[in-house]
Amino acid sequence: MINILPRNIANLIAAGEVINRPASALKELMENSIDAGAKSIQVFIEDAGRTLIQVIDDGCGMSAADAAVCFERHATSKILTAEDLEKIITYGFRGEALASIGAVAQVTLKTRREEDQTGVELEVSDSKIDSTKEVACPKGTNISVRNLFFNVPARRKFLKSDAAEFRHILQDFQRVSIANPAISLSLTHNGKPVHRLRAVPNVKQRIIDLFGASINKELVAIATDTSVIKVSGFIGVPEDARKTLGNQFLFVNGRYFRSPYLHKAVCKPYENLIKEGMTPSYFVFLEIDPTKVDVNIHPSKTEVKFEEEPVIFEIVSASVRESLGRNSFVPSIDFESGEVLDIPVHNSRKDGYVPPPKIDYNPLFNPFETDRGLRKPEEKSVLDHIQSYGSELFEDEKIPRSKSYILLGSKYIALPSSEGLMIISVLRARERLFYNRFFPKLLEQQEITQQSLYPEKIDLSPNDHSLIVENLDMLCSMGFDIRDFGKNSIVVYGLPAGFSSDKKELKEIIDSITASLSDGTLSNDNAAIAALSMARSAALSCRKSVTDEEAQLLIETVLETKDGMMTADGKKCCAVITNEEIERKI
Ligand code: ADP
Ligand code: MG
Repeated sequence: MINILPRNIANLIAAGEVINRPASALKELMENSIDAGAKSIQVFIEDAGRTLIQVIDDGCGMSAADAAVCFERHATSKILTAEDLEKIITYGFRGEALASIGAVAQVTLKTRREEDQTGVELEVSDSKIDSTKEVACPKGTNISVRNLFFNVPARRKFLKSDAAEFRHILQDFQRVSIANPAISLSLTHNGKPVHRLRAVPNVKQRIIDLFGASINKELVAIATDTSVIKVSGFIGVPEDARKTLGNQFLFVNGRYFRSPYLHKAVCKPYENLIKEGMTPSYFVFLEIDPTKVDVNIHPSKTEVKFEEEPVIFEIVSASVRESLGRNSFVPSIDFESGEVLDIPVHNSRKDGYVPPPKIDYNPLFNPFETDRGLRKPEEKSVLDHIQSYGSELFEDEKIPRSKSYILLGSKYIALPSSEGLMIISVLRARERLFYNRFFPKLLEQQEITQQSLYPEKIDLSPNDHSLIVENLDMLCSMGFDIRDFGKNSIVVYGLPAGFSSDKKELKEIIDSITASLSDGTLSNDNAAIAALSMARSAALSCRKSVTDEEAQLLIETVLETKDGMMTADGKKCCAVITNEEIERKI
C-alpha cells in the first residue's frame, strides 16, 4: 500500500537537505533579509544556535497574507511568471528555506511593510501555523528560530560542540558580511557582541572591520575583466599564508560559494612562494552572466556549476598571478630551469690556479617537494635523481657515519657518503627529531617538558579563539600553557620544549595549533597523529639557524634512529646525489 506522507513529515525530510545545522538556517535567513532590501541586519544567537537564531532586518517586510504563506513549500515572492523562472536558476529562489526551518524548529515571525499600519506575528512549529495576531512592530522582519531540531533527535545528536557550531555560524555570518559591505550587520552570541559592522563603501573596508586593521597590509588587489567573467577582490601576500584554513572566500554574483577546483586556481600561482601546507588568504569575487552558472546543484546552494569551468580556472589563476607579479612577489628566478647544483672542478686556467668549488644553490628550491608537482615531470633535473636514488641506498646502510658536513644555507645539510653526496632537509629532520621526543610522551600520557615564556598576548579571530579555549585542558596536557584573556585573545605563558620561543614565531605556532585542532590532528585520541602534528608545528616554527650541535643531532637522528630517514608520515628526510650522477654532470 502506498501512503502519501503527511505534509509535515515530507517537509521534515526535505528540511534535512537545506538545513543541516544552525549555521545553514542563519545563512538562509540573512539572505532573505538581503533579498528584502535590508540596510541593517542584526543577528542574535543563543547556545551556538541550538536555543535561538534571531535575525532582525529593516527590509520590505511582508503583508499579513504573505506572512501566512511564506512557510509553505515553494512559497516565494521572487518568481512570478514563467519568464522569472530563469531566476530560479540564477539565484536559487526555491521557496524552500522557510518551509524547511518551519519543519524543524519553533519559529516566531514578526513582520510589517512600510505601508501597513500594523504588523503581524506568527507562531509556527511542525510546519503548522499555531497562532496569528496583529502586532505593533517596526518596518521589516524579525524572525526567531527556537530549539532547532526539537522534533528530529537524530539531527540534534549529530550537532557538534557549541564551539564548533558557533564557528560555522561565524563563517556564514562573515561570508554574507563580506559580500554585502553596504549593509550594517551585527552578531551577538549569548548576549555578548561578536561583530558590529557599520555600512562601508567597499569590500576592503568591510574585510578590515571584520578581521582587524592588520589584515590591510597582508592583502593586494586583483582585478581582471574579460568577456566571460569579471574577477575582482583581494589576495593575501605570500608571507602571510597560514596553516589554518579560514580566510578563503569565493563569491559569484554576490553570493559565497565553495569550490575546491577554483581554490586550486587561486593557490596555483603561489606555488614556490609559500611553504608546504600553508594556504593564502583570499577574497575573490566573480561576476558572470547569471545564465552561465547553476547555483541549484546543491541544496544549500554553496556549490555552483559554471558553464566554462576550465576557462574560468585559467582567468582566475592569471588574475592572481598578475597581481603577485605586479606586487613583486613572483621571484625572477626561474625555478623550472636547469641545474641546481653546479660544482665546477675543471681547471681551465693556465697558471695552475684551482678555483674553490662554487656551490650554487637556489635557496627557494625544495627538492623534497616534487610530489606537489612543482616541476613538470618531463623536466628531470638532478634533484629528481636524488629522490629516486635516495631510499634504496639507505636500506644497505652504506652511509659512513661521517660527522663532517656543510650547511647549504639554512635549509640543507650536505655530507659525503660512499655513494655520493647526501643531503638532509633541516626542516624534515627537525620534524623527525621532535616526533621522536613527543610521541612516547603522548603515548604514555606523560608530561611534556615545558619552556616558560615571557607572557605574550595574542589576538585571534573569533573562530580560532573559540577553538583554543575549547581545548585548553588538552593543550595544557601537551605542554602548552595558554590562558583565555577574553575579547578573542589569549596569553601564552609556555610552550612545549622544542617549539621556538621567539616572539615573532608565536603567532605562527598558535596558527598551526588552531589548524591542527580544527582538522582534528591535535587530539587526545591518537598519540601518533598528535605527535606528528606537534612535531610539524615545532619544526615549522623553528627558524633559527642550525648550530654545529644541532647539525650533529639532526644527522644522528636521520642516520641512526629507527625510521629516521623519513618523517613520521613518510616524507623523505634525506636524499643522495650519487657519484654516477655527479660524473654524468661533469
Ligand atoms: P526564497 O528566498 O527562495 O524565495 P524562502 O523560503 O527563503 O524562499 O522565503 C520565502 C518568501 O518569504 C520569500 O520569497 C519572501 O517573499 C518572504 N520572506 C522571507 N524572508 C523575508 C524577509 N526577511 N523580509 C521580507 N520577506 C521575506
Ligand atoms: Mg530564501
